Amino acid sequence: MSPHRNVTIIGSGPAGLTAALYAARANLKPLLIEGIEAGGQLMLTTMVENFPGFRDGIMGPELMADMRAQAERFGTEIIQGNVAKADLSRRPFRLDMGDSATYTETLIIATGASARLLGLPSERALLGHGVSTCATCDGFFFKGKPIAVVGGGDSALEEAIFLTKFASKVTLVHRRDTLRASKIMQDKAFANPKIEFAWNSEVEDVRDISKGVVTAIVLRDARDGTITEVPVEGVFVAIGHTPNTSLFAHQLEMDVNGYLVTAQGTKTNIPGVFACGDVQDHVYRQAITAAGSGCMAAIDAERFLEHVPTDLESTVVN
Ligand code: NAP
Repeated sequence: MSPHRNVTIIGSGPAGLTAALYAARANLKPLLIEGIEAGGQLMLTTMVENFPGFRDGIMGPELMADMRAQAERFGTEIIQGNVAKADLSRRPFRLDMGDSATYTETLIIATGASARLLGLPSERALLGHGVSTCATCDGFFFKGKPIAVVGGGDSALEEAIFLTKFASKVTLVHRRDTLRASKIMQDKAFANPKIEFAWNSEVEDVRDISKGVVTAIVLRDARDGTITEVPVEGVFVAIGHTPNTSLFAHQLEMDVNGYLVTAQGTKTNIPGVFACGDVQDHVYRQAITAAGSGCMAAIDAERFLEHVPTDLESTVVN
């Protein structure tokens, strides 16, 4: 691995790979470090029908493989591994991975956010086959079908309301008898005739792994343990996201939920460190918006490097 870089990108979802493509085409010879969840959240989906340019849709993993190849074609060096420590206290920034360290003049953080899951083996097995964490992405596949949404926050209600455009019925499964969501969202959900509520209910299982599709959810009443089975063809898990930012704790400014705060495009509070994609966006969370912000981060990094003191340039790999 080259020790001193102009641009290093952490993360290999649409944001990271688009940042790599743009940085590579700017002749910055970027290094991209892809983590264990290489390719990001799109690796967990099947058909992607809302990424512009693919009239007939494209499989999530195929889209990511193509983005990766495109970034490599222009000179991005991609390595696998997890950054264990990032020292952003001075430039060049230092990234430690196992026994090796990389120094970089600019850092683009595209580590994304992970959708929280319930932790059931059946949920994991049927992810992309009826279980989804993104209503905007997958709602369309459930036209006229009964589905369930799990969660009681704004995301769950927003998804449930959105999904009534497609589904025949939406059962909102919440583990308590009061919602966490904002009052206005609650009012909208209560007024929607297609939404039914399963209160005090925990999802015990998603059926049916043996068929490879979702046929029902098994609910356990949190008060008395009663088990019921609700026939559904889709399950949307909307119990929140966790931004992957622990590496940058006490170094970069974050909001109360741990998302990186950016301003003037993709700038963080440390000059030379940029953030793009879901790690700094809990609002839109789309592949296309992530890719767009990845492009912005690469341009921001390129402009920043135009002002890097020249005495460092001789040691930078290019
Ligand atoms: P959230 O507010 O943290 O809500 C998560 C929900 O999932 C809670 O109801 C929680 O139950 C439930 N939950 C968590 N873990 C669970 C588990 N293991 N099993 C079952 N249920 C579980 O997350 P969010 O809804 O994604 O919202 C995140 C932030 O974004 C919030 O600040 C929200 O207001 C904001 N947001 C705003 C909008 C909007 O204004 N349009 C839309 C989306 C999100 P409990 O209630 O029992 O803890």
